[in-house]
Amino acid sequence: MSPDLECKNLTRRFGDTLAVDNVSFSVPRGSFFSILGPSGCGKTTIMRMIAGFLEPSSGDILIRGKSVVDTPPNKRPVNMVFQHLALFPMMNVADNIGYGLRRAGVAKPEIARKVEEALDRIGLPGIGSRKVNELSGGQKQRVAIARCMVLEPDVLLLDEPLGALDLKLRERLKVELKSLQAAFDTTFVYITHDQSEALVMSDRIAVMNEGRFEQVGSGQDLYYRPDTAFVAGFVGDTNRWSGRIERVSGDEMEMRTDSGMLMRGATHGRSLSEGDRADVFVRPEAIRIAHSAEELAHFDNRITGKVESILFNGAASRILVQDSSASGEIEVNLPQSGEFSGLSRGCEVQIGWSGAQGNCFAAGD
Ligand code: ATP
Repeated sequence: MSPDLECKNLTRRFGDTLAVDNVSFSVPRGSFFSILGPSGCGKTTIMRMIAGFLEPSSGDILIRGKSVVDTPPNKRPVNMVFQHLALFPMMNVADNIGYGLRRAGVAKPEIARKVEEALDRIGLPGIGSRKVNELSGGQKQRVAIARCMVLEPDVLLLDEPLGALDLKLRERLKVELKSLQAAFDTTFVYITHDQSEALVMSDRIAVMNEGRFEQVGSGQDLYYRPDTAFVAGFVGDTNRWSGRIERVSGDEMEMRTDSGMLMRGATHGRSLSEGDRADVFVRPEAIRIAHSAEELAHFDNRITGKVESILFNGAASRILVQDSSASGEIEVNLPQSGEFSGLSRGCEVQIGWSGAQGNCFAAGD
């Protein structure tokens, strides 16, 4: 079975700007695919090319195995939900959802049936006669998706659809969007600059930077096995040290940080040599507080520091430790509040982590 969407060597220039640079990916049927990247990296340009609003400079776009680059937007089996949902405020919900079907000349009873079915799927049965401007932000969101889904597109494109909503609603809708995607069993391609949205919803995520895909994988791949320094720094919170490689042996390395500390880390097969400038990334949850000298001795990397601040966050706590031998702050995540009892601002702590938890990249990778 061909994938729902395939982009091959997709490239788009605007004058001297290379907005999308030779990007290739495929999205299997019925999956949730996100393109995650900072502002200006080229996400919207990819979406506009898939939707047909913009021509690629080169490359191909296939939907269910068929090239659509010469197909006008309204004939492509794709639909798009925009950040500002573009619902018709004066129409009722049923007329909004049925809009595309009416334009396509579908018979009235069929439209009514499809609209009712869509309202059931989005969990809002019986609100067809309500005006759109009487709905909550979350309800509008669901109606906007239903309006696209009644047209049964092969691919639904979503361009930061949660961007205009407040934080609390966004948190809830992240989970809802994922279940809507499963309910309609349609391929969703979602673009966002918010890594937590991408991690919660997606089967696979492409991390994009300066027009290129840095890595495509599951949220876990990106978080635990980043391919590039950009991905390590962009997906999830991390500590970062820069320095110069002193020794490489197999997958292990030692780096002298710019503050003079000898740090052990893992290269994961990346080509690094003695003398290279490098960066080591360590997740806050990989760092532990040692309660005894014996415990501290288990770690390859050890730092003595002072607790700068403690952020108690229910099940977990986040602690900022000021490195006593350098001017850096280190973020530590403690999973259990028990570990944090007895700590207070200003007290001295010994922290450590194993070398395997330090992800090393050549500087500039
Ligand atoms: P954001 O998250 O801010 O929406 P984005 O990742 O979607 O950003 P794009 O809108 O795809 O980024 O823009 C990618 C690059 O292409 C940017 O440098 C942008 O300035 C440029 N660009 C986009 N559209 C045009 C255009 N019509 N003319 C000239 N340059 C453009």
